[in-house]
Amino acid sequence: MATQKNPKNWRPRTLAVRGGQIRTPFQETAEALFLTSGYAYDGPEEPEARFKGEADGYTYSRYGNPTVAMFEARMAALEGAPVARATASGMAAVSSVFLSALRSGDHVVAARAMFGACRLVVEDILARFGITSTIVDGTDLDAWQKALTPATKMLFLETPANPTLAIADLRAIAEIADKAGARLVVDNAFASPALQRPMQFGAHIVVHSSTKYIDGQGRAMGGVILCREDFLAEHLQTFLRNTGPIISPFNAWLHLKSLETLDLRMRAHCENARAVADFLAEQKGVHRVLYPFRDDHPQVTLAKAQMDGGGGVVAFEIDGGKAEAFALERALKLIDISNNLGDAKSLITHPATTTHCKLTPEARAAVGVSDGMLRLAVGLEDPADLCDDLAEALRSMRK
Ligand SMILES: *Cc1c(COP(=O)(O)O)cnc(C)c1O
Repeated sequence: MATQKNPKNWRPRTLAVRGGQIRTPFQETAEALFLTSGYAYDGPEEPEARFKGEADGYTYSRYGNPTVAMFEARMAALEGAPVARATASGMAAVSSVFLSALRSGDHVVAARAMFGACRLVVEDILARFGITSTIVDGTDLDAWQKALTPATKMLFLETPANPTLAIADLRAIAEIADKAGARLVVDNAFASPALQRPMQFGAHIVVHSSTKYIDGQGRAMGGVILCREDFLAEHLQTFLRNTGPIISPFNAWLHLKSLETLDLRMRAHCENARAVADFLAEQKGVHRVLYPFRDDHPQVTLAKAQMDGGGGVVAFEIDGGKAEAFALERALKLIDISNNLGDAKSLITHPATTTHCKLTPEARAAVGVSDGMLRLAVGLEDPADLCDDLAEALRSMRK
């Protein structure tokens, strides 16, 4: 079986289509889907050698699978990471990074604007194992610095953050982590490797929910961890192999094939999101629009320095509160009400009552999630139809 050569000079768009491909002797053009749990051997010596680690080859799909390996190799190539491991979901990726490497007595610093489940893992689950945490404003470099203790082992952030699209300074925070002898872990789900590669700025570990833009069509759950060889060897490998939060080969195959169009899709998401953001900013009844590449975003300069595009998500605040936000959602005819994102279909959600409902009102206010805020994950439809839908919904509310 031939592993495709990955010439070092292949550019990202070529890597997205061909990186990591393994062809069977049939020489199939599309990547093969290996739905198998086990592998057979020619004789008993072969498994002996593989189990001892003296021979290469698969032994069991909890340990490794060729379709999953292709997805991992392609993700590593796109992120510029030494190695990748795929997981069952984005949360399996996030929690495996923490639980594989941290122990009782360790400390984590995490940015406040964080995916709800990540915050629960950091503040509640890790705490049960004696791992403490400090939550900071991710945009405040002094706050990161001040939160460090001699026990700090990891810094965790998401940029752009959900749902306010706050941008954290990757290079500066990676330096803070380096000086403290800690690792910076970045959740890159909102940007995807097509728009942002945190390792270029010094991040030590990158995690993804491949459920989002990597799948891109709202079909299958998945996650990815990207890291260096030492982290894999010392922490992650043993943890993943023995606790088993692995991705199904079928989901890995879907996400692998989706990477072929990631760059094209992300450009279209960015273009559509920008058009919708600019449109919303002009509408009566909308008093604030947040989009990383708009000049009125508080960190537009930083966003442009570390991202190749503003992404597909727009947050906006309408006059009024929950009742008005719900009325707007109800009046939409094209855009679906859904808390997922990264789909070809445009999806809208009210963060205060969905993704951020577990936070206290004070905690929500601290991350900038108001009752009048809506998060719109702009899809791949014609942006003019999306603007028409929003305009009509806003108009119906004024009647
Ligand atoms: C969706 C999401 C996750 C969790 O991923 P799942 O695939 O749903 O487990 C984590 N972080 C961010 C930023 C996300 O959007």
